[in-house]
Amino acid sequence: MRNLFICIFLVVFSKVFADITVIYNTSLAQESIHTINFFDTEYFNAYELNKAFKAKISSDIMDQRLNINIYGEQLIFLLDSSYLQHGLKYYNMTYDLIQQEEKYFLPVSFLQSILPIIFPDQVSYENNKLFASAPIDNSIRRIVLDPGHGGKDPGAVGYSKKYFEKDITLELALKLKKKLEQKLDVLVLLSRDKDEFVSLQQRTKLANEKAADLFISLHCNAHRNSQIDGVEVYYLSTAKTDEARAVEAMENQVVFEYEGGEEAVKKYDDLAFILADMAQSEHLEESYNLGVNLQSSLITDTEAYDRGVKQANFYVLRGAFMPAVLIEFGFLSNEDEEKKLLNKNYQNKLIDSVFKGIHDFKMKYDQMQ
Ligand SMILES: [Zn+2]
Repeated sequence: MRNLFICIFLVVFSKVFADITVIYNTSLAQESIHTINFFDTEYFNAYELNKAFKAKISSDIMDQRLNINIYGEQLIFLLDSSYLQHGLKYYNMTYDLIQQEEKYFLPVSFLQSILPIIFPDQVSYENNKLFASAPIDNSIRRIVLDPGHGGKDPGAVGYSKKYFEKDITLELALKLKKKLEQKLDVLVLLSRDKDEFVSLQQRTKLANEKAADLFISLHCNAHRNSQIDGVEVYYLSTAKTDEARAVEAMENQVVFEYEGGEEAVKKYDDLAFILADMAQSEHLEESYNLGVNLQSSLITDTEAYDRGVKQANFYVLRGAFMPAVLIEFGFLSNEDEEKKLLNKNYQNKLIDSVFKGIHDFKMKYDQMQ
């Protein structure tokens, strides 16, 4: 009798909500959005939208804003408000966006009535079921690794005068490709897989044509002062410091020396620069974040001197329509660092730390939470 009373009590005073099934029009796969009861209103964790729609979700704590990108469209929510903004339009979900233990929860009314209005061609709702177009997959699946130099262009020459940058970067790239493909479920393309000359333009052209999601150029540094050592990662911009300008000039030298002198430089400098700079500026923040992940894991693992994440104007980064960075693994012009760069254990350390940097960036980028 007492149990029966409790049962009746639960039915009357606590609504139980069913999860929502997402059914895609182009595949047999289904997802379910788990719902939860807050103040007798049906809510769901906003990150469920990542699972169901591959939505990119970011929160801005200062502004108390939640940004959700679905089907390439940006929706902006305000904490403790029932309104959301899409372009110039506002929509009322009736119930507020709330935060519980650092997680954001949206009312199910958003799925039932707002989403089908914003995306009439992609989404409809009926009886706990969302019928939806297959989501756009923004995750990182293809990476171009670009071993610097090659063929007639040796790159930096070692302190010992016996070893070349082009050979070390190729060896690192081949090993890194293997590790990334085995452990990260990505396809890795190489701008060269043997000792051959590839122009700087061809390198990013490959990345664009194959719709790569990341472009990572691998290099070793050199300096006329053999005391200088350390690791640095660059992303594209007009060079900020004199030192960055010096490295930029050295890496860009290939255009002048091997790709047709001043005329070739001019070709890179005109139209290509304007277009490519626009393409990259879209990815500036992501390129910087990738650079920070790579630099921090490289420094932690190798204990090399930390030369930081820097901006420079590399030709090879200019043409990339995706997050792109250039890693300088160390100075071949430094006696100790040359030895390290030739050492297999040290090379494996470099591979492991670049792998870790890419892995961490990918986890954040893909919003796997
Ligand atoms: Zn180089």
